[in-house]
Amino acid sequence: MATHKLLLLPGDGIGPEVMAGVTKLIAWMNAHGMGSFETEDGLVGGVCYDAHGTSITDATMDLAQAADAVIFGAVGGPKWDSVPYDARPEAGLLRLRKDLALYANLRPAICYPALVESSSLKREVVEGLDILIIRELTGGVYFGEPKTITDLGNGQKRAVDTQVYDTYEIERIARVAFELARKRRNKVTSMEKRNVMKTGVLWNEVVTQVHQREFKDVQLEHQLADSGGMQLVRWPKQFDVVVTDNLFGDMLSDIAAMLTGSLGMLPSASLGEADPKTKRRKAMYEPVHGSAPDIAGKGMANPIAMLASFGMALRYSFNMIKEADLLDQAIAAALAKGLRTVDIKSEGTTVVGTAAMGDAIVGEMEKLAA
Ligand code: NAD
Repeated sequence: MATHKLLLLPGDGIGPEVMAGVTKLIAWMNAHGMGSFETEDGLVGGVCYDAHGTSITDATMDLAQAADAVIFGAVGGPKWDSVPYDARPEAGLLRLRKDLALYANLRPAICYPALVESSSLKREVVEGLDILIIRELTGGVYFGEPKTITDLGNGQKRAVDTQVYDTYEIERIARVAFELARKRRNKVTSMEKRNVMKTGVLWNEVVTQVHQREFKDVQLEHQLADSGGMQLVRWPKQFDVVVTDNLFGDMLSDIAAMLTGSLGMLPSASLGEADPKTKRRKAMYEPVHGSAPDIAGKGMANPIAMLASFGMALRYSFNMIKEADLLDQAIAAALAKGLRTVDIKSEGTTVVGTAAMGDAIVGEMEKLAA
């Protein structure tokens, strides 16, 4: 059995609390012959600043480059609000994304049956929902130059951001979308604004070409990003994989995320280039939420987003589909039993802490695997 090398970076606040659940799960999987994982730990964010005066060290970056996947908790907190800009906790996260060239951000929106009622949408709209938003993460208007504010000298200022995409950037993100769709329900919806933006025209053209050349077996649909946003709220189950640029993806992935309830439930993955030999992509997996300083140290955090992020590593880095499905079923089973962390509690449910929720999920895995 191949050994998978993981770098665990728990970070700040609730990061270490939710990462503890992943560590237990990995130990259980190793002990039960479900994969073979080797882990190393590193510091990132504020805790790294306290120890080394920087938010991530070169030595940790080397470990990240060598790992098969990085599992990241969360960074930041009021304690580090006034540290120098370059050493702020978030700089460690941004360096990881940049140096590993993680250009594809994956955000699933899955509605667990037990949480149907906590969505702001009607039951029939979200029940059974399982969609994946893929956002281009390293290009587009957040990075394009020029990016300026100019004083026009007449009491007016002019602000300029530049939306820019090259063919290769669109090709590679389209490939990620089509490849992942093949492992799911085989449908990709590409969203842009070709009616008013040149980048939208090129985006549409390149996605269509990649589809024609390499992925004719996958169903492809194009939608304008504004009406796509509307459709996401009206009838999200029409989608399987949605692929879009950095700006639209930022918004559409947040909309999709909230279809399913709490921040404590949302995993994510960021993928980079595939290694030509092993075909494995550089990858980092992290919950969408931050370090939640308001509840840190109280053992109240919901560990599901973190555990589900590890589940994405099983699915997308290690092709351990059966095990990833088992973990999803175990999460659903723990919720179906009425166990809830504070953030997702409702009438008639049992509130448990971070460790108890993590243990219950591993317990359900054990039962399901038996
Ligand atoms: P946050 O996600 O940390 O918290 C927002 C709210 O959601 C809080 O009330 C928090 O208690 C709750 N929450 C978040 N995760 C939860 C969980 N797993 N279980 C239960 N409740 C949960 O966002 P914020 O308050 O805006 O930011 C706090 C710090 O985190 C800041 O320093 C910010 O810069 C940082 N941050 C880091 C990341 C990251 O590391 N990727 C992402 C967002 C924010």
